[in-house]
Amino acid sequence: MKFKGMPGEWIRERYKINSMFKLRTVGQFDENGIFETEDVRLIEKLKVNYAEADISHDLLASDSKPHSENKCKYCGEEFEKKGQLLAHYRKCEKR
Ligand SMILES: [Zn+2]
Repeated sequence: MKFKGMPGEWIRERYKINSMFKLRTVGQFDENGIFETEDVRLIEKLKVNYAEADISHDLLASDSKPHSENKCKYCGEEFEKKGQLLAHYRKCEKR
């Protein structure tokens, strides 16, 4: 599973030894802020503190989408949302 954090951020887990809690470094987010592990025990712990990368990746992708992707091919008008463009097409195509 992949987790999303700050690029270069150390990932630490809390563990108990002699009834005292300590922190142990288990990894580091890469330059894209992604950390991947298949360790089921670790995944359960990280889920509490870090977002799953797949979910936040999708959010980032839709946020940073250039508006020109939603550009009318007939008149060149740009729209923030795909839905707005599709609604516009219905009118524009008939011109
Ligand atoms: Zn148009």
